[in-house]
Amino acid sequence: MATQSGEIFNFAEFTDPCIKCGKCIPVCTIHNVNADEVTSPRGFLDLLGAYQNGNLELDKNAKDIFESCFLCTACVEVCPKSLPTDMVIEQVRTDIADKFGIAFFKRAFFYLLRHRLTMDVLFKLGYVFQTCGFKIKEKNQNVAGMQPRFNLPLIKKDRLLPSLGKTSFMNANPEEISNGGKRRVAIFIGCLANYNYTEIGKSLLYTLETLEIDAFIPKKQLCCSAPAYFTGDFDTVDHNAKKNIEYFESFLDDVEAIIIPEATCSAMIKIDYEHHFHDQPEWFERARALKSKIFMATEWLNNHTHLNTLLETKETQDLSVTYHDPCHAKKMQGIHREPRNLISKNYEIKEMSDSNTCCGFGGVTMQTEKYHFAHAAGKPKAAMIEQTGAEVVSSECSACRMQISNSMHDADVNVEFKNPIELIADALREKTKV
Ligand code: SF4
Ligand code: SF4
Repeated sequence: MATQSGEIFNFAEFTDPCIKCGKCIPVCTIHNVNADEVTSPRGFLDLLGAYQNGNLELDKNAKDIFESCFLCTACVEVCPKSLPTDMVIEQVRTDIADKFGIAFFKRAFFYLLRHRLTMDVLFKLGYVFQTCGFKIKEKNQNVAGMQPRFNLPLIKKDRLLPSLGKTSFMNANPEEISNGGKRRVAIFIGCLANYNYTEIGKSLLYTLETLEIDAFIPKKQLCCSAPAYFTGDFDTVDHNAKKNIEYFESFLDDVEAIIIPEATCSAMIKIDYEHHFHDQPEWFERARALKSKIFMATEWLNNHTHLNTLLETKETQDLSVTYHDPCHAKKMQGIHREPRNLISKNYEIKEMSDSNTCCGFGGVTMQTEKYHFAHAAGKPKAAMIEQTGAEVVSSECSACRMQISNSMHDADVNVEFKNPIELIADALREKTKV
């Protein structure tokens, strides 16, 4: 059910108001690593206007250009017209997918995102056999992950990738966890935290247990479909978003919130589902109706529980932390004070020179066919983390974790990465101050 640009999606509504002021250019992630006007927000909008008017053919060159955007929304944050450059690029990518098709490896990956059981089996096999193809990292032990033993298609052997957990978070835990029955929240865990960074979910459960809040882990949740959305596979988005919305509606009245320890999944469900359903009024309204109960985990814990005062009773940790703001948290959802507020109760925070700069993850295409851009965009972030002298870098986003860990590994920066929820759980496990 891909959108046919020019017929359904109106690019001109967003490209015509651009006043060419150039305020977006210094902050643009792709322009900073590929200083060309065509790979800038202003350039993208200009080209999309020409495409709308029939003056630009969607050829391989145009495909190459539109696939170069990191979708970081840095431009949206500074634009005096609030033009959603990321959103219109997401729209044109579905036209690109319609015209050129989607590469086989991406289709296989998106198939898995639709089929949880198949993904479970494959990741289990991956765990068993991962040491055949990958070695668990030895250099800079604090930067955890695994490296391919040999060059793979699109992934060179020096890359650091997240290793797989023995059992996924959802399979390791029951659906209902009672912690007293007074309050109840649902957890949407996200694929990377479910299969790779499983300590995040464990830490979240421990935090809820300490707060005496029941945890509901809805086992039929599907991937939020952000990887497919950023690649233009709107059929997968349609499938997963509708399944998730229907499923969430079935228990929404029975929970205070659906909490998500992942910025990208949260932004996808809370904001991008509406963008996606802009031409399907019924689903647009159903996506909108969910929003009041979708929260990033630190957002909800900070604003709706007594976690802050509880953390204040715990011993201070002898550890300094620098916090990276995920684009999908600060720029898209305005979440940046909440994780810092919670972390600062027990850790010294050493701010990096620009915590808001995109880490350079950029999505599936950027991590594979356009990895040279992701690699270049990751270097400044690794350098600014090192300059802080902090022992831990934290961010509530596992895509940022994957990218930053690889960038630090590449630059020999030996700093440990932890989701803020892991830091909070570590602090809660400490003795109470006397
Ligand atoms: S900041 Fe906004 S209005 Fe100015 S050039 Fe960039 S996209 Fe256009
Ligand atoms: S979303 Fe990011 S990479 Fe794309 S045009 Fe905007 S600032 Fe540049």
